[in-house]
Amino acid sequence: MSVIILEEVDGPANPQNAVSLSDPVRKGLLETIGQTPLVRIGSLSDATGCEILAKAEFLNPGGSPKDRVAAQIVTEAMSRGDLSRGGTVAEGTSGSTGISLAMVAQAVGCHSYVSLPDDAAEEKKQLLHALGAHVESVRPVSITHKDHFVNKARRRATEGSTNSQAEPVSILLRAATEGCIFANQFENMANFRAHYLGTAPELWQQTKGRLDAFIAAAGTGGTIAGVSRYLKEKDSSIRIYLVDPPGSSLHNKVARGVLYTRQEAEGHRLRNPDDTVMEGIGLNRLTNNFKEARIDASFQATDLEAVEMARFVLRNDGLFLGSSSAMNLVGAVKAAWELGKGHTVVTVLCDSGARHLSKFWNPQVLQKRGIMPDKVSDDLSFIAK
Ligand code: PMP
Repeated sequence: MSVIILEEVDGPANPQNAVSLSDPVRKGLLETIGQTPLVRIGSLSDATGCEILAKAEFLNPGGSPKDRVAAQIVTEAMSRGDLSRGGTVAEGTSGSTGISLAMVAQAVGCHSYVSLPDDAAEEKKQLLHALGAHVESVRPVSITHKDHFVNKARRRATEGSTNSQAEPVSILLRAATEGCIFANQFENMANFRAHYLGTAPELWQQTKGRLDAFIAAAGTGGTIAGVSRYLKEKDSSIRIYLVDPPGSSLHNKVARGVLYTRQEAEGHRLRNPDDTVMEGIGLNRLTNNFKEARIDASFQATDLEAVEMARFVLRNDGLFLGSSSAMNLVGAVKAAWELGKGHTVVTVLCDSGARHLSKFWNPQVLQKRGIMPDKVSDDLSFIAK
C-alpha cells in the first residue's frame, strides 16, 4: 500500500517524447504523445511581417499538451515505484489534465479519480466518465477552502489509505489496497519536465534554433516555465513573453518586476471565473512550476481580442481553436509588433474549439457579455497596440 503526494524528484526523467521518428510504428498510446507539428500561421505572418509559428498541441491524442504532462507524471511515479498497475491517479481539475490523466491511466493499467467543480461544463464531465475516470463534483469554493476541488483530490489520495471512515467513494477502496498518487499538476515539477524535455527541444529542432521570441499564457505555468528555461539555456537572447487574461494577476507582477519575490509568491487574491471566457489560463498565485519561468515581459489581452482572433484564424487559416490558443496568438501579434518586422515568434495552440462550445464559442454567452463580433475582422485592428 502506498500513498504518495508527489514532490519534485531528483535525477533525469524519462520523457515520453523521446520517440524515434525513424521507427514508423509507435509502441502504444504513450508514444503517440508529443512530436506535434509546428505550423506557420499564414494570415498573421503576412499581416505582421514576422514569421508567426505555433506548435499544434491540440493534435496530441487527448487533444492538448496535458497529455505530455499526464504521461510524465505517471511514468515518473511508476519508475520510482510509487504507482503500479491497478493503482490510481487522483487530480483536482476542471481542465484538460483530467482528460489526459484518465486516458494515460487506462494505457498503463491504472485508474483515475478526478474532482471538479459542479459548474464545470456537462460535456467535460461526460467525457471524463466515458474515459473511465471516477468523477466527483464538488461545490465551487476558493482554493484556500478545504473542499476546493484540488484540496479534495489531495485528500482523497491520502484518505484512501489512512481513513477507513472516508466517504464511500468506490475509488477510495481501490486506493486503499492498490495505492494512489496525487498528480498535483500545479506543484509537481514533472509538469515542468514534460515541457523542458519534450515541447521545448522539439520546437528548438523544428525552428533549427532560429527563433526570436516565445510567448504563452500560464495556467499551471508548466509550459512557459519548461520552454523558457530550455530556450534561455540554448540562447539567452530569445525573448520570453507572457500573455495574461482578464482576472489574472501575473501581468502586474511581471510589470512591477516582483515576480520572483517570496512575498509575491505567497500572496494571492481569488480569481472569479466570471472575469473571463478564457478557460485553463490565468493565475493569482505563483505555483512551483510557474516560479521556474524566465520571463522578459508581458502583455495583457482581453476576451474580445481572443474572440476576434479565433474567428480571424478560422476564416483565414482554417484553424478552429480554443480560448487559450486564441489568446496566445493575440500575444504573438503583440510580440511581433514590439519586435518589428522580420522576426520569428513562436507560440502554442493548446486545444481545439470543440472543447469550448459551451463558453468561448457559444454565441449566447458572448452576446450576454457584449463581446460577440458582428463579422470576421478584415485585419488585425481588433488588437490593441
Ligand atoms: N490552455 C489550456 C486549455 C489549458 O487547460 C491550460 C492548462 N490549465 C493552459 C492553456 C496553460 O498551460 P500551463 O498549465 O502549462 O500553464
